[in-house]
Amino acid sequence: MGKLHDITIPPDAASIVDALEAAGHEAWVTGSYVRDMLMGRIPHDLDISTSARWETIRDLFSSQGFKVYETGTDRGTVTVNTGAHLVEITTFRTEEPIEGTRIAFQNAEHRKLSVWEPSSRFRFTNSVEKDLLRRDFTMNALAFNPNCGILDPFGGVKDISNETIRAVGEPSERFWQDPLRILRAARFASQLGFDVESRTKEAALASAPLLKHAPAQRIEAEFARLLQGDHARQAIMDWIDVIGVFIPEALPMKGLDQRTKYHIYDVLEHTAYTVSLAPQQRVLRYAAFLHDIGKPEVFRIDEEGVGHSPGHAAAGAVISEQVCSRLKLREDEAAEICTLVGAHDDRISPTPRSVRKALRRLGGNVRMLRELLELKKADALAHAPEHQERAAIAEEVGLVLDDVLKKEAAFDIKDLAIDGTDVIARGVPAGPSVGAALEAALDAVIDELVNNTRDDLLAFLDDRIAH
Ligand code: ATP
Ligand code: MG
Repeated sequence: MGKLHDITIPPDAASIVDALEAAGHEAWVTGSYVRDMLMGRIPHDLDISTSARWETIRDLFSSQGFKVYETGTDRGTVTVNTGAHLVEITTFRTEEPIEGTRIAFQNAEHRKLSVWEPSSRFRFTNSVEKDLLRRDFTMNALAFNPNCGILDPFGGVKDISNETIRAVGEPSERFWQDPLRILRAARFASQLGFDVESRTKEAALASAPLLKHAPAQRIEAEFARLLQGDHARQAIMDWIDVIGVFIPEALPMKGLDQRTKYHIYDVLEHTAYTVSLAPQQRVLRYAAFLHDIGKPEVFRIDEEGVGHSPGHAAAGAVISEQVCSRLKLREDEAAEICTLVGAHDDRISPTPRSVRKALRRLGGNVRMLRELLELKKADALAHAPEHQERAAIAEEVGLVLDDVLKKEAAFDIKDLAIDGTDVIARGVPAGPSVGAALEAALDAVIDELVNNTRDDLLAFLDDRIAH
């Protein structure tokens, strides 16, 4: 049973509520602010819901000298910049069945998951109760007003204190209405560590195929939050069948016994654990989720009964590319994720030479090498307890990297103390052999056979040409 905290709102938000009320409207703080405050978490934004229409809100606050942005007027939302905060203000809305749609009036058993179509639309309303009724979970269906206190028509406060995620109303009905709510249940479980109430969970799992009809961007936004949650390990295990609707490639990881002494978990358990050990950052959590997704494809068992997954990193990079494009990730993020997945099993030793080689493979991208080391560390720690030594190695590699950077050691052709003109001046014909000579010089520098100084490199070239 979680202890509940008091709700306070900052003075600028309180004056917005006052101003709306003084103009004859109702105004409440709603959504995550109330939930997070009760839980003692720091709320990351503050939303106000009101009976005023968006044009009225805009005019009221611009006339008082505030900057007002029309951030979502089709949904009834404007954003007021109070100087201290950006406060979203939205007109109360309700969701109503669209008349004439087949499914709106059918009962759950008769619905076919494959013939889903939108069956409701929103309308503006003057009633805060109706606005709360359209919300997904009881913990999100709370409103707070400094003069009236908490409005809690569905027992959200009790559910928060019992750490329970429960659908508002009939769960299957609500998931049918908006399939994204299925994934939202999983992401809140991952963020808050709450249990999903059994009927809500049952309905979510049964309706999971409906998620196919949700837009990729909305799925991605929720999935990324699930991956970054404090309880991602448990959430991935509990909700893999929901995740599998939009990443079916992840499903064969479940139950894949790796048959090696290095692992005590199946691939999915190892993956979920790796995710939870990786820094809570989008790219790294995606890379952790996808790092072994190539294993099922390449897995084989040798004569001794030992499992092997040769080339699983490269296979995983190919699958990751498909996943990222399906979820419409930004191209730069997708490229980074695929590179990390493809490189996660590369051996890097804590020597300047090995570190410079690794940097070279990553096109000289230092930030990415650091991310790769984080991924390798998380991966190593999710192995059997007696086989985690690679985590320490990744740490050491990081220290060597600091050193390499301090010494401005070369790991790219452009870091060399000579360039193509020098090579040509030494008698190498212009063309591919110039690049080859520079590559050879860089290798020699990385292998610490030659110093990265002009004189030494020119001597190296002369020597190379003479042989
Ligand atoms: P976060 O802390 O991630 O911002 P949140 O609860 O604010 O969590 P949002 O996606 O920002 O989540 O949504 C704001 C509020 O709008 C929710 O608290 C919920 O009341 C309502 N809401 C959002 N999406 C849905 C949905 N698909 N169905 C019903 N209500 C929703
Ligand atoms: Mg929010």
